Amino acid sequence: EPDVAEILDKINHLEKKIKNLEARTVKTYPDITGGAGFVGSHLVDRLLLEGHEVMVVDNFFTGRKRNVEHWIGHENFELINHDIVNPIFIEVDQIYHLASPASPPHYMYNPVKTIKTNTVGTINILGLAKRVGARVLIASTSEVYGDPEIHPQPESYWGHVNPIGPRACYDEAKRVAETLAYAYEKQENIEVRVARIFNTYGPRMHMDDGRVVSNFVLQALQGKDITVYGHGKQTRSFQYVTDLVDGLIRLMNSNHSLPVNLGNPDEHTIDEFAIIINNLVNKNSKIVHKPAVEDDPQKRKPDITKAKNILGWEPKVLLKIGLEETIKYFRGELQRTKHTERN
Ligand code: NAD
Ligand code: UDP
Repeated sequence: EPDVAEILDKINHLEKKIKNLEARTVKTYPDITGGAGFVGSHLVDRLLLEGHEVMVVDNFFTGRKRNVEHWIGHENFELINHDIVNPIFIEVDQIYHLASPASPPHYMYNPVKTIKTNTVGTINILGLAKRVGARVLIASTSEVYGDPEIHPQPESYWGHVNPIGPRACYDEAKRVAETLAYAYEKQENIEVRVARIFNTYGPRMHMDDGRVVSNFVLQALQGKDITVYGHGKQTRSFQYVTDLVDGLIRLMNSNHSLPVNLGNPDEHTIDEFAIIINNLVNKNSKIVHKPAVEDDPQKRKPDITKAKNILGWEPKVLLKIGLEETIKYFRGELQRTKHTERN
């Protein structure tokens, strides 16, 4: 006998899918702040391939022209060199607000600038949205949960952040960015979306990014020791960048304005990552333990129930497949830099 509730559930799910597809076939004029960075440049690729007219605003602090150079000259692409700490006047209908250094060494390099970018910069972007009536998606982070006491982390968790520690310039500034988004929504009727992004990896990560995937892959490729900070039992859950891009686009075009976690719940200890990466590259590196970094979150794994229910989204790329793509990219980058050094 057919289960009516189950059928209704399926219809509901399909309707949501169709709505998402319809929303995505309408041509939009998105601005991507931080679009020359790692995640932003993959988002640029997807949106341009879908026929949208994309404007990138980036000051190239951690981003590179190389990440988007294949689009330069394309009629639907524009690249603006601009620091979002200063106001900007452009005409767009959606804003993916990604501008901010993301890796701990990058955001700790100039903590005050990190805070300015995520607070003053976000005010400028929300002000722009108010002026032109655009919808804004804020790229928030799992770091708003700090060193979490709840595992896995649902969106309802308020977090456990040290407000004066070395990571605070990023964590607290992102928390303020979220607060700003909802203040503008309430006070100025701006349409906002908030993605809480968990650790993401893939091609176009920086070589000197200092994050665990880029460090381990480069160390393994160069036959150097793989450096695990601390005891190595701390965990992370890594999502491949194309999965994230898919989630960001779905969230932007959904009608849900509260924060949504976007991440892969496939959780591993850092020790395990070291072994997995070493095995995928050549098994030649030694895995060594270095002193722990201050305030290192001990575990992190997203609860993605909300993204599944609201966006019909879940990550698809398996860790091994994503890592193989990333290793291929870094191998190419090492060869390229060797080549430029020789010439
Ligand atoms: P990234 O460093 O590769 O990209 C950030 C981009 O922002 C760069 O192109 C940089 O030049 C630009 N930028 C920085 N400050 C700017 C400013 N003041 N004005 C204009 N442009 C500026 O980092 P990413 O990994 O692509 O991260 C993108 C966004 O996603 C960030 O907001 C980050 O906080 C968020 N996020 C990323 C991850 C991750 O694992 N990659 C996890 C959580 C959140
Ligand atoms: N880490 C490590 N070796 C490295 C780089 C990072 O063991 O060479 C650890 C780091 O201490 C943390 C985890 O890997 O526990 C993830 O660090 P990352 O900087 O990539 O991102 P985070 O999630 O801390 O922002």
